Amino acid sequence: MKDLVLLKIGGSVITDKKKAFTENRKAINRLSKEIRKGYNPRRMKLILIHGAGSFGHHMVHKNKIHKGIRNSKQLVDFAETQTVQNRFNAMVTESLQSQRIPAIPILASSTAVMHNIRLKHMCLDGVKELLKIGMVPVLYGVPAVDTKQKCSILSGDMIMSWIGKELKPDKIIHATDVDGIYTADPKRSRKAKLIKEITLEDWRKIKNGLTGSSSVDVTGGMFLKVSEMITLAKLGISSQFINASRAGNVEKALKGKKVKGTLIKA
Ligand code: ADP
Repeated sequence: MKDLVLLKIGGSVITDKKKAFTENRKAINRLSKEIRKGYNPRRMKLILIHGAGSFGHHMVHKNKIHKGIRNSKQLVDFAETQTVQNRFNAMVTESLQSQRIPAIPILASSTAVMHNIRLKHMCLDGVKELLKIGMVPVLYGVPAVDTKQKCSILSGDMIMSWIGKELKPDKIIHATDVDGIYTADPKRSRKAKLIKEITLEDWRKIKNGLTGSSSVDVTGGMFLKVSEMITLAKLGISSQFINASRAGNVEKALKGKKVKGTLIKA
């Protein structure tokens, strides 16, 4: 879709991932202001996606609904987990609305169908129409129905790649709490170096553990994020990873200005 920008703000930026149910109000409000300054409704359409951070991970770790539903108590857990995500999303959208951004919450799990923890289908008809009238849809990670195990987690990252494939945006910005993709987890290794650009060829080497001059170790959530963006690169869509914890980065990226980070090159 022409002029469409897809921006994901990771849960690591807008919550305190170490403390359950703890939002980072300061970051949420700062990012709302940056989005207001960077979003030009005359020149772009914008979809926002955010992660659940400490509103999701801690709860699901306890109730285990991501592994499927095995008893009736977990049906209630499924429902409650959804409600908590809605509540966190309301904090985010209210902050965006206070900046006069027409940010409208979209419950992805109302049309999503998962199978064996993978997203099989999600309807974007409503989202497309909302974009046409100038709204800014805001989607977020949620538990969703799964035709194999009854429930699994539809993460913000999965929503991101689904929309990427379906709507083919002009620009994809992935924002987390680190500057981009490093040769190792920068929070664990002081030797980790920022990779400025990853091409499809580089990724083949990284994935196979062929290390070239410096070894690359992309783990956990970040590995999935990168591999999904590689899938989009294969479809001809580039994306960039930036640090939304650094003030000004999201605004600059929306305006198309240069920001430190990693470019996944199509
Ligand atoms: P979010 O919640 O914002 O979606 P995640 O916590 O899932 O983000 O992933 C971001 C984290 O991934 C970073 O904070 C970083 O510690 C970790 N990480 C692991 N490997 C890498 C890597 N090679 N490069 C960058 N970050 C990495």
